[in-house]
Amino acid sequence: MQVAQNILQLKLELSSRITMVAVSKTHPPDDILEAYQTGHRDFGENKVQELSEKSALLPKDIRWHMIGHLQTNKVKFIAPFVHLIHGVDSIKLLEIIQKEGIKRNRCINCLLQTHIALEESKFGLSQSEIIQIFESGVLEKLTAVRICGLMGMASNTEDETQIRREFRELHQLFTTIQIQFPNQTVHFNQLSMGMSDDYPIAIEEGSTLIRVGSKIFGHREYAFKP
Ligand SMILES: *Cc1c(COP(=O)(O)O)cnc(C)c1O
Repeated sequence: MQVAQNILQLKLELSSRITMVAVSKTHPPDDILEAYQTGHRDFGENKVQELSEKSALLPKDIRWHMIGHLQTNKVKFIAPFVHLIHGVDSIKLLEIIQKEGIKRNRCINCLLQTHIALEESKFGLSQSEIIQIFESGVLEKLTAVRICGLMGMASNTEDETQIRREFRELHQLFTTIQIQFPNQTVHFNQLSMGMSDDYPIAIEEGSTLIRVGSKIFGHREYAFKP
């Protein structure tokens, strides 16, 4: 019951313009089903194997979001069904997604992950690398890839000013790209930023898509085993 309550509570609070991805990593399929039964359809996982296993077990109209780091050799496992890949952080990965998209005869939705946090460890492209991708024209050749926007994670800090600054920077980059590259940004309208602890700030700073895990499913304590 708690999962359903949490999700309904969040939806009351959120504008209908915001997409909420319920991040279900490490939580069992039964919890996902409980959220599903409230009418929720967008779920996120950060590991390819867990995502594949859960998608096989759960209703087919779930929109699965791959929110974690994606290795090129694993694209093939999610290419047939994934709704949106949030963590695209190299041209190499885009080219593999293109190849798999062609094979499956589908256009795969992707977000370019942008590094905005202070920590070195987080994945993502720099702002100038993102601009270069658009300038290079490489995206026009990737006919089975649809670039839907940007994704970013703020620093893991209590400093709200810092978090806000990072989200604002990402929003600025998002807008700049839309203005500078109108021909390449027809589908470029999603800005994925904000998690359980910082989504209110992210929304104030222009997020269109938040990724909420613990605030829906509770703390992550154990690894998922099918
Ligand atoms: C786990 C995860 C989330 C959700 O985190 P919570 O703090 O539990 O809301 C969001 N985005 C990414 C990329 C994640 O890996």
